[in-house]
Amino acid sequence: MTVTTREQCAALDREDPLRGLRDEFELPKGVIYLDGNSLGARPRSAAARAAQVVTEEWGVGLIRSWNTAGWFQLPQRLGDKIAPLVGAKPGEVVVTDTTSINLFKVLAAALRVQAARDPARKVIVSERSNFPTDLYIAQGLADLLQQGYELRLVDAPEQIGAALGADTAVLMVTEVNYRTGHLLDMRAVTAQAHEKGALAVWDLCHSAGALPIDLHAAGADYAIGCTYKYLNGGPGSPAFVWVAPALREQFWQPLSGWWGHEAPFAMAPGYRPAQGVQRYMCGTQPITSMALVECGLDIFARTDMQALRAKSLALTDLFIALVESRCARHPLTLVTPRDHARRGSQVSIEHPQGFAVMAALIERGVIGDYREPRILRFGFTPLYVGFADVWDAVEVLRDVLDGETWKDARFQARSAVT
Ligand SMILES: *Cc1c(COP(=O)(O)O)cnc(C)c1O
Repeated sequence: MTVTTREQCAALDREDPLRGLRDEFELPKGVIYLDGNSLGARPRSAAARAAQVVTEEWGVGLIRSWNTAGWFQLPQRLGDKIAPLVGAKPGEVVVTDTTSINLFKVLAAALRVQAARDPARKVIVSERSNFPTDLYIAQGLADLLQQGYELRLVDAPEQIGAALGADTAVLMVTEVNYRTGHLLDMRAVTAQAHEKGALAVWDLCHSAGALPIDLHAAGADYAIGCTYKYLNGGPGSPAFVWVAPALREQFWQPLSGWWGHEAPFAMAPGYRPAQGVQRYMCGTQPITSMALVECGLDIFARTDMQALRAKSLALTDLFIALVESRCARHPLTLVTPRDHARRGSQVSIEHPQGFAVMAALIERGVIGDYREPRILRFGFTPLYVGFADVWDAVEVLRDVLDGETWKDARFQARSAVT
């Protein structure tokens, strides 16, 4: 169906089986929120949960809450709620630390596994367009180890296969590219790595909660990802980590803090890693922030990733079609793949003055974000974005472009976070 009116979009919303989930989120009036790929919206339940953690669990329970309020088990309990979203089994995922830190841990462990098998494998292969922190962490680890480890970067996903060889220890890739929205085929890319004897580390930051993931079916070795994007955990909420069971007990990780110890309260002077993915924890967890992750995850329990994916693709298809038909005379270039099998849950569009155009959109209540160079990035979270929202967002974009309001000086100044 070709959509040409707002009424058609409103009809799609009325027929949307997921429309009730929108009420689980609190969004300000007048805002169309297309940045859930950067910071997910707030689950309604998060305010009461935050108050409960602070006033009751901390305020009244005090230290007792580690036992009585389930604080100590929280990383595992949340991990078990993430597991079905990523194709992991109960007990295989923990929520802890940040994505950057978890990447450091799994990369270090993967390099140790490989060093024991074949010390000649010194190369970490990744994409130059990977999220910068991933590249910085890999580079930092290679420098720290000082054993000839190096990072080899390719310029396009099709080059990954050719970059893997007998020297490769690890392939470190992000399933959905943060800038372009390009989706890698996890199963095929993992198979390429394994064929060459490399281990595959997957960053799921832009795919967890956005599309179905099956780590076991893909044969992945390690995975990490954040909870504050599509999982709606709150600003800076802790990340998650998964390790394939066959690799998990082979080595531990270098941030061998007491929370990853087999018996933390034995207070023994020597480190003995815990059995299971708990060994990927380090120190005391940020309970206040971590507790709110559960509010976002509990909403996912009311639907399934197949239904969310179907709506996500319908939303991004509609957005692309409307931008192309209604903003046709403007210099916009679609960056995100049209092919569903290659598309995440975002649409990235290049405009020569992308920064100013996005600033003007945000002032009008259409919140996406800007990514260097020249890219307008729109994230579509099917839990709370509807089809009429897509129509309205495109109309604001058309208005900003037709009226050239983005040329105003106030849209040229950059803040610290874009
Ligand atoms: C958002 C994102 C991160 C963020 O890492 P933090 O440690 O949470 O700052 C890392 N990698 C990718 C691919 C991301 O999209």
